[in-house]
Amino acid sequence: MRRSAFFLPTLKETPSEAQIASHRLMLRAGMVRQSAAGIYSWLPLGFKVLRKIEQIVREEQDAAGAQELLMPTIQSADIWRESERYDAYGKEMLRFKDRHDREMLYGPTNEELITQLFRDNVRSYRDLPKILYHIQWKFRDEVRPRFGVMRGREFLMKDSYSFDMDFEGAKRSYEAMFTAYLKTFKRMGLTAIPMQADSGAIGGNLTHEFHVLAETGESGVFYDIAYDDLAAKGEIDLAALNDLYAATDEKHVPGGPNVPPPERLREARGIEVGHIFYFGTKYSKAMNAMVQGKDGEPVFAEMGSYGIGVSRLVGAIIEAYHDDRGIKWPESVAPFKVGLINLKAGDALCDKTCDDIYAKLGAAGVEVLYDDRDDRAGVKFADMDLIGLPWQLIAGPKGLAQGVVELKNRATDEKVELSVDSALARLV
Ligand code: ATP
Ligand code: MG
Ligand code: MG
Ligand code: MG
Repeated sequence: MRRSAFFLPTLKETPSEAQIASHRLMLRAGMVRQSAAGIYSWLPLGFKVLRKIEQIVREEQDAAGAQELLMPTIQSADIWRESERYDAYGKEMLRFKDRHDREMLYGPTNEELITQLFRDNVRSYRDLPKILYHIQWKFRDEVRPRFGVMRGREFLMKDSYSFDMDFEGAKRSYEAMFTAYLKTFKRMGLTAIPMQADSGAIGGNLTHEFHVLAETGESGVFYDIAYDDLAAKGEIDLAALNDLYAATDEKHVPGGPNVPPPERLREARGIEVGHIFYFGTKYSKAMNAMVQGKDGEPVFAEMGSYGIGVSRLVGAIIEAYHDDRGIKWPESVAPFKVGLINLKAGDALCDKTCDDIYAKLGAAGVEVLYDDRDDRAGVKFADMDLIGLPWQLIAGPKGLAQGVVELKNRATDEKVELSVDSALARLV
């Protein structure tokens, strides 16, 4: 993509409405624009990141055996009456009527809809187990939408639903999702700690929330300080998790069983990026979702649901990866891998070299944002640091006269001078 053609409205000034770094940077880097409280348009740069995150989530869901489908955003109130959640859900649910006076709602989650699909289409134990998921926009009329996409009213969620014959099966599905979540967050460069959690409105008893630690996190969490060492090494695996305590403040009981002594207990803030529940037959019973068991007797499906805040993750990743100049994207979710800076647009050698690099990287499948604008070097450097692409390849007349370009790593600020060919070799 040529910067001169790209729709990328970056801002020099810090927008006054943004209280935390990720919100400020997403506005300044031209990733999103708010259209109403907690409702955002995703501009091309932000949308690319959203899609990358979505794709990592999708790949790990697929690898865990889940199948993707797509349910609508708009639901009928009827199924929510069946589950007795229509009144219980309260003001967070956006409700409206269609022209025939039928009560409708913008889905805040999809347990009812998936249970209806299952009930109407699955008959036998032979069809189980199943894990179904979609990545779809949700609406929750949050009292205090804030921090940009972190707490939006409209937001993108991945939600999976598992169906099993019995508790053992449901537990296997739960564990498959648990592991998939660890892999998913790790691929995005995040250390997300699974915390024992309170089951809240969805109901049930086996549940974990996945939290990324951040001072600006909205949730209070408690955990064994051993996590800090593991996180520093990037090594949170299943074996470690079995021994270590971690719980959200709603669940945490001071001095309770398994709670480490004060010198080993840390209290911190977390961003909830995922949440998994086992809730048994809560919905299948309420909505009469049965399959025929091995012995011919009908059995209520054992269910679980598993959410990931896809759009919230964009903010969470920025909270974890930024400095005072801008974002520092991990390569796996970066909107482009390379920012190519032509220091002197209009100079024949600079233009020719940059055009050539741009073509070669493109042919090799490397995503490049090419700053081909006729602007001051300082402006280009500041802009490129702000949007935070992992690599900057800088070509100017002085260097090119010696046959070199500069390759800068945004995360470490390390710069090296290289021939064009060696720079290309490093990037493909
Ligand atoms: P929170 O405690 O932050 O309000 P929640 O517990 O109500 O979240 P869940 O019902 O568990 O949310 O939904 C699954 C995931 O969807 C959450 O873990 C979170 O990552 C994401 N999510 C929930 N609400 C929002 C929101 N308003 N904006 C962006 N993401 C959200
Ligand atoms: Mg909530
Ligand atoms: Mg929560
Ligand atoms: Mg939750």
